[in-house]
Amino acid sequence: MAPVLPTDPHNLKRRGMLFVLSSPSGAGKSTIARLLLADEPELEMSVSATTRPIREGEIDGRDYHFVDLEEFRRMVAADEFLEWAHVFDNRYGTPRAQVEALLADGKDVLFDIDWQGAQQLFQIAGGDVVRVFIFPPSMPELRQRLERRATDSPEVIDARMARAANEVSHWDGYDYVLVNHDVETCFRGVKTIIAAERLKRSRQTGLIGFIRRLTR
Ligand code: 5GP
Repeated sequence: MAPVLPTDPHNLKRRGMLFVLSSPSGAGKSTIARLLLADEPELEMSVSATTRPIREGEIDGRDYHFVDLEEFRRMVAADEFLEWAHVFDNRYGTPRAQVEALLADGKDVLFDIDWQGAQQLFQIAGGDVVRVFIFPPSMPELRQRLERRATDSPEVIDARMARAANEVSHWDGYDYVLVNHDVETCFRGVKTIIAAERLKRSRQTGLIGFIRRLTR
């Protein structure tokens, strides 16, 4: 497996992190991700590839790279994914090249991926990964949110609710958990996590030179 981080992280002022946000769809994760990207200049989104059909309002290359099954299989065979998984009846994967380029550029990378992806990233990059799970306030509230969104048929909403119960059952594979009662409070909670994680000693590789000078 190719290294995720540049081989000489000591040249970076801070070791970048892979920041994973997971939740059942409809729990507000996309809104939180959008707010974070607007507010955190050092955080960039990893754009996944997927075989699922494009939804109204989505843009190819911004929301996802929409590919057909043949292209997805080619990417798997060429080892172009850091991780990939079946979600619902479709496949989703994180292209490796973009993530490596962002980390090499000293950025933190935000991932909107499911528990399978979170687990795989953690296996590859361990302590560089921060896993955050967002709970909906309740399951009935989640259904209402999906219905209000009005992008899916009732059958798809039923399937998403079943999937949500499964997703929630994996909450203990995360470092942090939040309940999205309201977006503003949840957003502030996630920002606090980012701020604290950036201050971790293990990420502050730029401090090494500073400490040497200080203790000379
Ligand atoms: P949606 O179809 O609603 O955009 O996404 C469905 C689910 O797939 C979400 O839970 C989302 O987090 C997950 N997902 C999106 N991209 C990836 C990916 O690259 N890898 C994995 N493992 N899951 C993903």
